[in-house]
Amino acid sequence: MIIVFKPNAPQESKLKVRAKLENQGFQIHESNGLNITLYGIVGDTSAFDMRTLISDDCIEKIMRVQEPFKRANRMFHPEDSIVNVAGVPFGGRKLQVIAGPCSVESAEQVTSIAQEVKMAGANLLRGGAFKPRTSPYSFQGLKEVGLDYLKAARAETGLPIVTEIMSADKIERFVEDVDLIQVGARNMQNFELLKELGKIRTPILLKRGLSATIEEWIMSAEYIMAGGNENVILCERGIRTFETYTRNTLDLSAIPAVKKLSHLPVVVDPSHAAGLWWMVEPLAKAAVAVGADGLIIEVHNDPEHALCDGAQSLKPDRFSRLMSELKGIAQIVGREL
Ligand code: PEP
Ligand code: MN
Repeated sequence: MIIVFKPNAPQESKLKVRAKLENQGFQIHESNGLNITLYGIVGDTSAFDMRTLISDDCIEKIMRVQEPFKRANRMFHPEDSIVNVAGVPFGGRKLQVIAGPCSVESAEQVTSIAQEVKMAGANLLRGGAFKPRTSPYSFQGLKEVGLDYLKAARAETGLPIVTEIMSADKIERFVEDVDLIQVGARNMQNFELLKELGKIRTPILLKRGLSATIEEWIMSAEYIMAGGNENVILCERGIRTFETYTRNTLDLSAIPAVKKLSHLPVVVDPSHAAGLWWMVEPLAKAAVAVGADGLIIEVHNDPEHALCDGAQSLKPDRFSRLMSELKGIAQIVGREL
């Protein structure tokens, strides 16, 4: 339920309404626009009699929210949310680009890639230390040592770091060391993990599950936000369809859909969507054209020998060329890169 106050409604009257609702056990999510205040009401309002409020003449209107997600709902927060990742704002006019290898393989590898992507204009460095692999016999990541190498690359380049968390027992270490914590597609509905991530304030990059609907994906963001962590960035990374030519099918329509339903920033991962390095460039361009707030792209200096996802990784020179080409597209859609 949303309460829209009349423009310039006195603060005293708003507080009276707040007290009435809080007495009923509801939580209030307040959003202040230029001269209009909204109260988003969280809780089971189905049995609540709105007539008890309508007599307050400071209220313009009361609306029911149809969707099951509240805090993530654009009705609760009509303006785009800006999520600040170590000083890098996601969700504003400027597009942010996260780039780096699928996995951290050595200190030299991640630092040299970090230097190259930074030179090309990337704003954050990615690199997996804990890797969710389909096969238990595949490289599982360098784990804690990988985090140390990422930190060294950050110290060298100044780029904030993004890496995937797989279990709640690592949260303390991640809060200490990581700027943007990635929840991978396979963990999008690990509700216990999401609840724990709701208790921290480090921003979360929430990837869409392999077969998750848009509503299920936003509900997972709601889990994190319900705990109090509103710093969520969504990431479309392709979904399972009947098509096998590409690794996944990039759901470009999800970007405008999510922007309509939610105020959260959305970035696109063309690398995991395509699974093919040569398709990353056109998909990245399409993502910017349909309104993505940023991109996450896998870049490797020796993709033929990468320990993970070499086939979808761009070499630094191609990444650099892509970054220049994206500038023009960003400008056409009123954004900046
Ligand atoms: C990754 O970013 O390397 C990754 C494993 O992504 P996803 O969870 O989207 O498959
Ligand atoms: Mn990968």
